[in-house]
Amino acid sequence: MKTSRLYLIIPILTLAFASCEEKFSDSIFEDVPALNVDSTTYTYEFDKWLYENYTVPYNIQFLYKLEDLGSDFDYNLVPASYEKAQQVAHLAIYLWFDVYKKVVGPDFLKQYGPRIIHLIGSYAINPSQGTIKLGTAEGGAKITLYGMNPMDATNIDDLNQFIFHTMHHEFAHILHQTKTYPKTYETITSETYDPVSWSTRSEKTANELGYVTNYASMQAREDFVEVISCYITYTDSAWNSVLTQAAEGKIDDQTTGRDIIEQKFAICKTWLADKWNIDIEELRREVQYRQSHMDLEKVMNDEY
Ligand SMILES: [Zn+2]
Repeated sequence: MKTSRLYLIIPILTLAFASCEEKFSDSIFEDVPALNVDSTTYTYEFDKWLYENYTVPYNIQFLYKLEDLGSDFDYNLVPASYEKAQQVAHLAIYLWFDVYKKVVGPDFLKQYGPRIIHLIGSYAINPSQGTIKLGTAEGGAKITLYGMNPMDATNIDDLNQFIFHTMHHEFAHILHQTKTYPKTYETITSETYDPVSWSTRSEKTANELGYVTNYASMQAREDFVEVISCYITYTDSAWNSVLTQAAEGKIDDQTTGRDIIEQKFAICKTWLADKWNIDIEELRREVQYRQSHMDLEKVMNDEY
């Protein structure tokens, strides 16, 4: 069972991010209706909670009822279950919004965060291509997360894979689209970016070439946000195993893939500090602490 799941997840992740930039000009932001806090499709209480915890502090619409206007009609989609929608809404506050609020300040995500978060219960399956999409972000304004129903909300690996890696990845895009990163970053591994067949590279090969994931080897801007997202969400052990694998790759006589990743990370870290006054070590510490101390029952009761 575990093997088949792995086979499933690898194409999912790569495709999830593959779509993140392509839809930049395709935002439906202006077409989404205003939040109706009196809706009784599920319960008034949850909608009221969303209004108080997303709309008021962050100006975000948290959509979980499979809005027609915001859905992709190329796929057969199923709504998120009520239970899963509530779990994800609470967990996103715990593992994402409250982290930035604590580390960077209360107004940061209100200014730079997404305007819409849209949950879909099923994966977006494309049988003709044999592919599955996990998430999309459109111009940073709207993040759509697929596959909420089969996700185990008590499993931090599932949560990172299905939600938080994507959110940190997309948010880093928003930041570098607002304040550019140093051009020197694009020259570090300029010869091995492959926008067409990056997905045929294994993670091992990508690491050895100086990339944290194979998706990072697609192009420089994806590389840049993957370094940030992986560093924040990976445990020490997971990050170290990337570096260990990367050390196996020889770029030239004196340089390994690990040296390359460390060089890239240093640029990301300095850029976040200088341009945004964000200490990535502090951000990571807070995320890691919350991940390792996560108690879903307490999170659901806003007790943490
Ligand atoms: Zn991206």
